[in-house]
Amino acid sequence: MRIDILSLFPQIATAALAESIIGRAQQRALVEIHAHNIRDWARDKHRTTDDTPYGGGQGMVMKCEPIFEAITALRSEGCKVAFMTPAGAPFKQTTAQRFASECKHLIILCGHYEGVDQRVIDQLVDEEISIGDYVLTNGVIAAVVVVDAIVRLLPEVLGDATSAVEESFAGGLLEFPQYTRPVEFEGVRVPEILLGGNHAAIAKWRQEQSLGKTRRARPDLLA
Ligand code: SAM
Repeated sequence: MRIDILSLFPQIATAALAESIIGRAQQRALVEIHAHNIRDWARDKHRTTDDTPYGGGQGMVMKCEPIFEAITALRSEGCKVAFMTPAGAPFKQTTAQRFASECKHLIILCGHYEGVDQRVIDQLVDEEISIGDYVLTNGVIAAVVVVDAIVRLLPEVLGDATSAVEESFAGGLLEFPQYTRPVEFEGVRVPEILLGGNHAAIAKWRQEQSLGKTRRARPDLLA
């Protein structure tokens, strides 16, 4: 899979995605990630990427021309263009799974200031994506979240393929509690059932824990 991130702060994406599992996935060529500065496609001598909004109001709006040029230059046959926006559809594990399995080339457009000229969205964007009901200063932070969630689902990225199966949301529930050594810490012991080696009983206990935790923390997932 190839991912192109278009933003005014590409260095944020490059730095965040160079570490740990996603960084190693790039080194192993399991994914190709390129972060670009939209300013590189601005043609005027000040390399302008924003202007005041028609109709008045506060803030600045990102201009059409550099974004059109950038996407035209990067686009490939069958690629998808996603725009990060709080006004988009909520990004979920199922969204990440869909991109990881169906999309070979994803271009992620990141807004800044008040957002992006609507003509960009209407003419170039396939999907508007929100990472939650709050407003960030710019879309590259949201793009990093989306890229991380997608790339970890690509084949061979996680050391153990079952990691992405036995985790929150994968089966519609939150994950069960996890424990490691020592068996007792500050007077609190690991649940006895996890120490007995009875895998069927452990699986049943984990399923019950998942259900209980989901009921308490995210009853909407069970609705
Ligand atoms: N004026 C916009 C609005 O009210 O919807 C908010 C603009 S926000 C200050 C600047 C940029 O940050 C947006 O264009 C978008 O790319 C990104 N952004 C902010 N919050 C986001 C969220 N929850 N999900 C995805 N992107 C977000």
